[in-house]
Amino acid sequence: MSALPSRIDYWPIPFPVKPQAITPLKLAMWDSTVAETQPPASRGLPQPRAGFRRLEPTPELLEELHAASQRLEGASPEEIIAWGVEQYAPYLTMATAFGPEGCVILSMLAKIAPETYVFNLETGYQFQETLDLRDRIAERYGIEVDLLRPDLSIEEYEALHGGPLYRTNPNQCCFDRKIKTLQRASQVMHAWMSGIRRDQSADRAQAPIVGWDKKFGLVKISPLANWTKKDIWKRITDETIPYNPLHDKGYPSIGCWPCTRAVEAGEADERAGRWSGMRKTECGLHTISEQDGSGI
Ligand code: SF4
Repeated sequence: MSALPSRIDYWPIPFPVKPQAITPLKLAMWDSTVAETQPPASRGLPQPRAGFRRLEPTPELLEELHAASQRLEGASPEEIIAWGVEQYAPYLTMATAFGPEGCVILSMLAKIAPETYVFNLETGYQFQETLDLRDRIAERYGIEVDLLRPDLSIEEYEALHGGPLYRTNPNQCCFDRKIKTLQRASQVMHAWMSGIRRDQSADRAQAPIVGWDKKFGLVKISPLANWTKKDIWKRITDETIPYNPLHDKGYPSIGCWPCTRAVEAGEADERAGRWSGMRKTECGLHTISEQDGSGI
């Protein structure tokens, strides 16, 4: 057993000793956090007003977005969110997996535009802690994050594929249970906000503050692109923003339980625990370049 890692600078408390070599299957058996209670039904996507049309990525729009992105480089996240609201509400939305960044944006939205439609891609495989955090956010900020689900329940989906697809074809599983759901939401929106930061990965390092998201046909706004993980945790600590308790147990990045493990000592990559042992690092929501669908 290796020595405990030194405190990773943004975790609020040092994480405890944990079992070694946790595979997704073992994790499911070991961890008591697999969701057991049925989360609430979805409110459903908001209906656009008569005459709503999706945005087209015309050269004029792309130029406008580029100019706005440049202008907003020095703006605070609150100013970027306020700009997004002014430009795109009520067709501005936010997708959150209740990561620290998402919780920070929700705390800002509560002051700027709490009526914004925010949703979570409820794959059916989320940790109980993640679903509980939704309730804590609602209590604290009055923002009820909607749980958008795929068409098939996990029982139906696994029966269709002869077992859990996350073990054999996680790209397809992410596509069916996350991407398709976001595609559905994108039909009634003009813009979406995400909590990605440029220092999270090489792929995310290229993220503009505002840009055109070809995959979903939406303007994509990343208010925290210029923030570091230290900035995020400082805000969480200063304002006691609710966050997922799994972060205190060695999970810097949290997705679905079958595809997330705690990180080991010496693993500097904060996303090392996602799809561990697989040639996959992203679910495909935020990949900028796609090679043969490998980003999904
Ligand atoms: Fe499926 Fe894993 Fe992707 Fe969740 S993260 S949708 S369980 S492959």
